[in-house]
Amino acid sequence: MKRLRHKQEIIFLFGKLFKQLRLYNKSMKLQARAQEVITLLEKEYPVFETALDWEEPWQLVAAVLLSAQTTDENINRVTKTLFKKYPTPQAIANASIKELEQDIYSTGYYKAKAKNLKGMCTALVTEHNGVVPDSLAQLITLPGVGRKTANVVLHVLHDKREGIVMDTHIARVTHRLGFTKEKHPLKGEQTMMRILPNTQWKEWGDLLIQHGRKVCHARKPHCEKCVLSDICPTGKTILKTRAKTTPHPES
Ligand code: SF4
Repeated sequence: MKRLRHKQEIIFLFGKLFKQLRLYNKSMKLQARAQEVITLLEKEYPVFETALDWEEPWQLVAAVLLSAQTTDENINRVTKTLFKKYPTPQAIANASIKELEQDIYSTGYYKAKAKNLKGMCTALVTEHNGVVPDSLAQLITLPGVGRKTANVVLHVLHDKREGIVMDTHIARVTHRLGFTKEKHPLKGEQTMMRILPNTQWKEWGDLLIQHGRKVCHARKPHCEKCVLSDICPTGKTILKTRAKTTPHPES
């Protein structure tokens, strides 16, 4: 009886060890693939600067907050006038909501954005002496500031890494590359934070956002000309399907 229990314990321990080895192997493969993605995309996009125009730290927060669901070019057009009209966060805090709505109308979702912009500037002035906080925990308490905006601000303004920027482009490409089964940006962020060292968290976002905008489009990704097509599971499936459905030139 005692020998049998001993044998069962050994089998159990071996099972546990095998499982851990499999997980370790999987994680090493993901890490290696993530490094390959970075190396390939670095060659494609050697330079990255945030495309949003700003001079004062609070203006960066405002610009990122307004940038949801529209292009950086559109935001730059709007903020050029906006920051002249309201040169300080106090000025925006004092503005009427109706006027702010008109000022940012062309950015879309103008009612919610105007409310958040005024709320964010009011909180900056009343709770932070007009200074943009340098921690994720404090930043996400500002109205309209979620993890994405907070991570952009931490990376660009404070050179700090508390997370990875996961906007829709970055989340989509991360998912298509097979690093996460779930499409939710937070899941993508958590997964990549486990796979990559924090020194590469900013790089991941900078490279994937460019790739998502230029090649891996939401509706019709250009897998045929994508440098990641050899290591992208989604790309392989898409290319196979397209090859089957594209009529042969001689048929
Ligand atoms: S191969 Fe296609 S799906 Fe994969 S990253 Fe490139 S464009 Fe996106």
